[in-house]
Amino acid sequence: MVTRAAKVKDLAEDALPAEEAPEEAPEEAPEKSLDDLVTRLPGVTEQFAAALGKGLAVHTVGDLLRHYPRRYEDRTHFKPICDVRHGEAVTISGKVISVENIPTRSRVTLTKVALDDRSGIAFLVFFNQWYLKKQFDKLRGKVVVAYGKASRAGRGGLDMTDVEWEAPEDDKDALSSGRIVPVYPLTEGALQARVRRAVWSALEEYGHLASETLSLSLRDRRALPPLVEALRAIHFPETEDARLAAQRRFVFDEFFGLQLLLAVRKRQADKMQGTVFAETNGPIEELKAVLPYPLTGAQARVIGELAKDMASPRAMNRLIQGDVGAGKTVVAMAALLIAVRNGYQAALMAPTEILAEQHYLGIRRIMESMGVTVSLLSGSLPAKEKRAALASVASGETHIAVGTHALIQDDVVFHRLGLGVVDEQHRFGVMQRAALKQKGFSPDVLVMTATPIPRTLTLTVYGDLDVSIIDQLPPGRKPIKTHWKRGHERQAVYETLRRLLKEGRQAYVICSLIEENEKLQARAATELAGHLQTHVFTEYKVGLLHGQMKPSEKEGTMTRFRDRELQLLVSTTVIEVGVDVPNASVIVIEDADRFGMAQLHQLRGRVGRGDTQSYCLLIGDPKTEDGSARLTTMAQTTDGFLIAEEDLKLRGPGDFYGTRQSGLQPLPFVDVVRDVPVLKEAREEAWTLLQEDPKLARPEHAALKAVVKSKYKNVLGLSAS
Ligand code: ADP
Ligand code: MG
Repeated sequence: MVTRAAKVKDLAEDALPAEEAPEEAPEEAPEKSLDDLVTRLPGVTEQFAAALGKGLAVHTVGDLLRHYPRRYEDRTHFKPICDVRHGEAVTISGKVISVENIPTRSRVTLTKVALDDRSGIAFLVFFNQWYLKKQFDKLRGKVVVAYGKASRAGRGGLDMTDVEWEAPEDDKDALSSGRIVPVYPLTEGALQARVRRAVWSALEEYGHLASETLSLSLRDRRALPPLVEALRAIHFPETEDARLAAQRRFVFDEFFGLQLLLAVRKRQADKMQGTVFAETNGPIEELKAVLPYPLTGAQARVIGELAKDMASPRAMNRLIQGDVGAGKTVVAMAALLIAVRNGYQAALMAPTEILAEQHYLGIRRIMESMGVTVSLLSGSLPAKEKRAALASVASGETHIAVGTHALIQDDVVFHRLGLGVVDEQHRFGVMQRAALKQKGFSPDVLVMTATPIPRTLTLTVYGDLDVSIIDQLPPGRKPIKTHWKRGHERQAVYETLRRLLKEGRQAYVICSLIEENEKLQARAATELAGHLQTHVFTEYKVGLLHGQMKPSEKEGTMTRFRDRELQLLVSTTVIEVGVDVPNASVIVIEDADRFGMAQLHQLRGRVGRGDTQSYCLLIGDPKTEDGSARLTTMAQTTDGFLIAEEDLKLRGPGDFYGTRQSGLQPLPFVDVVRDVPVLKEAREEAWTLLQEDPKLARPEHAALKAVVKSKYKNVLGLSAS
């Protein structure tokens, strides 16, 4: 792991070489720097600093300046209590006139604090926080600012719950009243007012040190405020407009950095020499002749595009995007066969063992008759078989190696590798893609993904790749019918399932998602399978699949399912990606509300792969409105692009970069759907800039370069773990 991260780091170093360290002028006393610890700020004690560090990863003044508000409260005007309506989230301000602790029968202590603003009286209601009474008692007759939700309003008075409150210490504290006030993410030992004060001091004493990363002309062109101004306005905006301008600036910065990296990579890729595969038509025709079905128009077009890449001396760097079930595998096969017929080896890498095995079987079935040798290389092969496979790959006897990331381990030596194909690339993440190249996987690379994202975004996120889209499903596919049922309707769902099984279909039952805990997931799946076998579907054979099983057991189960020995397969999300068993036409997903929509779409994509009508039965009792919205959307549409867009809105961009596991933390206020125009501007500027100064070597780009490089390293640091 460490070596791989180190290698990617080298890549970054190559792309943006470090300058010669400038001669520092040592005579000056240690100046202020954004790297100073927060304890250098007035009022920041060791204890407070420790809390900031532990809970918020804020160590230096620079960290603090990047600790952006979670939201803002407009305290230029407080809402008069008499105007507050039921359900509204508002900020009010009033004098404390009474404080009471009220025990209730359910052993909850209510603390009720009455605030009077002359227009009316509001009660702040706290649950089980009896100790607050003491604090409010001290504030009797003083003004308190409170933000919360009006849980009851009207004649009987106003109750506010989920309250955040503050007693502006004294009139001098202009930070917490009479302005748009920032509200920061907090942690134990760091109160809102104190964090706010610390950020304020940081801005006052260090704000001017933030080095501008964007040139004046760029800022003019794109109407972006200077960094120093933006920093001040993102924390303590004078007006809503100033805040929006600042926000736009930071969103731009975020995208600009990413686009610069992609542009650097794209430039490198374009210069890279690949293999010339002179003969492309022959192999394509050869494949078409043995396929049991004609290619769709979209498949043929995409194969044409990649064949052109392969025939040219420039290294191929292409992304193939196609919704689940669009038929990406056969497109990959065309590329693999072109490589083989031109005298090279080719490799196909998949993210899971189950998928690697499936590809191995499928490709071998088609290619064996053509005299092409296919080998499987996965981490779980018995030592003897692995040795044999390695030897066969090294001697060149193997034409096509299929495997998991075991394919890029150090012990794998190819005789004459000409092409690397990566399936379900989003599973590997953006950084692993860089690692692959670094590993010399092959100069010619084809990556495939089913995560459909809006086209404008594709171009910007995969900006270093050429993109082909398979925008057509094979003929005869019927849209999957999706129904959402509540937990108490489970019996009815099982009866539907039984009816479908009787028709000779096979079905998946996906066990509920238990975050990050494979052991618990495995246990839940085992229990569910046992229950279904012994109590519900006694007349059928129920199989089990989960991540804790040995690879050979998993393969055994998949084989029995494929061979129709099992009618029902209870599984965790290990089948999420790529699994293709066309006769399986029903999928039941338990606790569907726990899954994201992209994931539900992937899971649902396991069915609807043949020409029978397929069904997806979602069981879930969502606890939030978002949850209901997700399941409703799933029941209404099978359009992957639409679902991806909705999913993006709900989940934010972490996933969409494909870098979540690499720790590239997007800004809290980036909204990838809303901010697409900014993203486009950032992309244009990044390309222009690199045209003029490909290595960011000019002195005026030093600050920008430093930021981009440090960001790159952050990503690497986290992905190495
Ligand atoms: P994905 O794009 O999700 O990887 P697959 O490559 O697994 O999709 O293909 C899904 C199913 O569609 C497979 O069973 C495959 O055999 C079938 N298929 C692919 N292309 C065609 C086609 N042109 N006509 C009919 N069936 C096809
Ligand atoms: Mg696939």
